Amino acid sequence: MKRLLYIFCCVLLVLMAGCGSGHQDKTADGKLPVVASFYAMKEITEAIGGDKVEVRTLIPEGTEPHEFQPTTRSMKDLSRARVLVLQGLGMEPWAEEMVKAAENNSLIQVVAAQNVQPIQNEEKEEIREHGQYDPHAWLSPSCAQAEARAIADGLAQADPANRAYYEANADRFIARLQQLEGSYKEKFRQVHRKDFVTGHAAFAYLCRDFSLEQSSVEGVFASGEPNARQLASLVEFCRERGVKTIFTEAAVSPKTSQSLAREVGAKVVPIHTLEGGEGEGNYLQQMEENLERIYESLK
Ligand SMILES: [Zn+2]
Repeated sequence: MKRLLYIFCCVLLVLMAGCGSGHQDKTADGKLPVVASFYAMKEITEAIGGDKVEVRTLIPEGTEPHEFQPTTRSMKDLSRARVLVLQGLGMEPWAEEMVKAAENNSLIQVVAAQNVQPIQNEEKEEIREHGQYDPHAWLSPSCAQAEARAIADGLAQADPANRAYYEANADRFIARLQQLEGSYKEKFRQVHRKDFVTGHAAFAYLCRDFSLEQSSVEGVFASGEPNARQLASLVEFCRERGVKTIFTEAAVSPKTSQSLAREVGAKVVPIHTLEGGEGEGNYLQQMEENLERIYESLK
């Protein structure tokens, strides 16, 4: 009898902790429990899920997502969720193991970039560190449209009663992105300069949308201390092209961008990668800010 009681207590504890088979269909206030891998995925999912979903990020805000290791809290959130929203393209190499460990049989996985035409990484170092594809598709207005549609489908699959609601929100979100894409295609067509320098090379998909070109400081300083020879070549690169703006992201040390900017007489302007949630405003506002700042730097 004592032994039975002991087993009963253990089972109760596991249930209370919400581990194992502890998923919920809805949260206490009737929302669909969703986890998104990082900030940008949460932002897009919230734009589509509206007040029907409760979205948590697995990667805590302020953490560099490229170097994430799952935590107990994120494990617990995953075991309770109905939907997991991932970017894909190698952005979440930890996801497969984590999903296995969560043992959540009713979890629906959405790979937001499933219909995005991937950009191959070309440099050996980059492939070793980040895999075969460049993962940063969420920073492109055209890719984000495909991602919104994939996320809406996943939410509807988990919560069919609200399908029409998710689809209507996705339509509205996509229309705003199309508008943004159209107006900046026109603007970028009119500028003479087509290239910009940024800290973290996160804008290849955005560049593909608008026929622009990025160069990144991180490409030079990726690992360890800045190397004097590499810095010198980047300074020369900026001088040759008359670069007047160096973009910098909150997640990457702005120091290198700042010293480069000082060296070549350029100004440092912040840009959002939407990886860690440092910026103000929602997804669309931050995207528009990025496009406007890049446009201003090319005028
Ligand atoms: Zn990144």
